[in-house]
Amino acid sequence: MTLPRSTDVFVIGGGPAGLAAAIAARRRGFIVTLADCSVPPIDKACGEGIMPDGLAAAQSLGIDLDCAGAHAFRGIRFCERGISVEAVFPKGHGLGLRRTTLHGMMVERAAGAGVRVAWGARVTGITEEGVIADDQLVRARWIIGADGGQSPVRRWAGLDACRHDSRRFGFRRHYRAAPWSEFMEIHWSDGCQLYITPVGAEEVCVVLISRDPHLRLDDALPQFPEAARRLRDAESTTLERGGVSASRRLKSVFRGRVALVGDASGSVDAITGEGLCLLFQQAVALAGALEAGDLSLYQVEHRRIGKRPELMAALMLMLDGRGRLRRRAMRAFEGHPSLFARLLAMHVGELSRFDSMTNGLALGWHILTL
Ligand SMILES: Cc1cc2nc3c(=O)[nH]c(=O)nc-3n(C[C@H](O)[C@H](O)[C@H](O)COP(=O)(O)OP(=O)(O)OC[C@H]3O[C@@H](n4cnc5c(N)ncnc54)[C@H](O)[C@@H]3O)c2cc1C
Repeated sequence: MTLPRSTDVFVIGGGPAGLAAAIAARRRGFIVTLADCSVPPIDKACGEGIMPDGLAAAQSLGIDLDCAGAHAFRGIRFCERGISVEAVFPKGHGLGLRRTTLHGMMVERAAGAGVRVAWGARVTGITEEGVIADDQLVRARWIIGADGGQSPVRRWAGLDACRHDSRRFGFRRHYRAAPWSEFMEIHWSDGCQLYITPVGAEEVCVVLISRDPHLRLDDALPQFPEAARRLRDAESTTLERGGVSASRRLKSVFRGRVALVGDASGSVDAITGEGLCLLFQQAVALAGALEAGDLSLYQVEHRRIGKRPELMAALMLMLDGRGRLRRRAMRAFEGHPSLFARLLAMHVGELSRFDSMTNGLALGWHILTL
C-alpha cells in the first residue's frame, strides 16, 4: 500500500498490539493507517499461551481466537522435583496458538475492519504534524506507538522514564509431540523455568526463561528431568528463537497526541502469560480515550489493567528467586489444592480482592507451619 498524506490515527508497529489498537480505533470510526517494517506472518519468541481473560479481551475487539489451529487447555500445572500441582480455570479455557497463526488472523481482521496497512514501511521519526514513514510525512491527529519492548517511539516521545525495569531472557522452540496433559505446564528449577504450551494435536511450544542471556534450552533441559524425558525423542520443528522478557512500568504512557500500547507501554514478566491479554485490553481502552479526545483517560485505564498481572508477576518472580520458599509453597499446594485453584482464579481475574487476600494469608500460614 502507498502511504496516504494524512490519517486520523497512525499506528507504528503491526504486532498484536498495533493490530489490536488499529482494529479498536476503526471500530470507533477513525481512519487508521498502520506501518510495520516487517512483512507478515511475523513470528516472535512467545510461549503462545492465552489465558481465558485474554480470550475474552480479544472477543471484545471482535476477534474470536477459538479458531482452527488453536489448542485448548483447561488450566495450569506447576512441577518441580517430582511434585506436581494443577488447577482448572474457574471459567472457560486457555488456548495455545502459534504466533504466526495469531498474527495471520489479526492481519485479516484488521483488513476486514478497513485499516490501511503498509507492511515493510519503516518509521524513522515523529514530528508535531505526524509520522515520517519511508522518508515521507504522513499527517496524523493521533500517533500510537506499538513498536515493541525496545520502542523507538517511546524514546522519541520522551516517555522512557520508568518506575520499574528489569529483564529476563526467553528462548522458545517447538517440538513434534502430542500434548501429554490438558494443562499449560510450568516446570520450576533454581533460577529458571520451562513452560510448555500445547499448540496443536501434535505440537508443543517450549520456553526457557531465566536471568542468564547465555542459558539455552539444551543446556537447561537436564534441570527438568520430567520434561526432558517427554521431549527426549521429539523432533524440534522450529529453530530456537530468543526474546527479552521485561518487567517494566513507565511513569507515563502518553504525551500530547502520542500514546503507547503493548510492550512499548511496559510489560509484565512472560511467565504470567498475560502479555497478549494486556494489549487487547489496552487497545480497547485507548480507542475509548481517542474517541473522548483525552489520553489521560487511557493513562488511568492502563494503570488499572496492569495492576493484577503485575502483582501475579511479582509473586511468580519471588518464587523464581527463592528455592526453599518455592518448595514449601509447592508442598502447601500439594496438601491443599484449593489454595492453588484460588491462586489461579486470582490470576485470571475471577477472585475478589478480599478472597485474594484471605487466600494469600492462608498460603502464608501453610508455608510457615509446614
Ligand atoms: C519469551 C517470551 C514468552 C512470552 N510468552 C507469552 C505467552 O505465553 N502469552 C502471552 O500472552 N504473552 C507472552 N509473551 C509476551 C508477548 O509476546 C508480548 O506481550 C507481545 O508480543 C507484545 O506485542 P507487541 O505488538 O507490543 O510487540 P511486538 O510483537 O514486538 O511488535 C512490535 C512491532 O513493531 C514493529 N516495529 C518496530 N520498530 C518499528 C519501526 N521503526 N517502524 C515500523 N515498525 C516497527 C516490529 O517490526 C514489530 O512487528 C512472551 C514474551 C516473551 C519474550
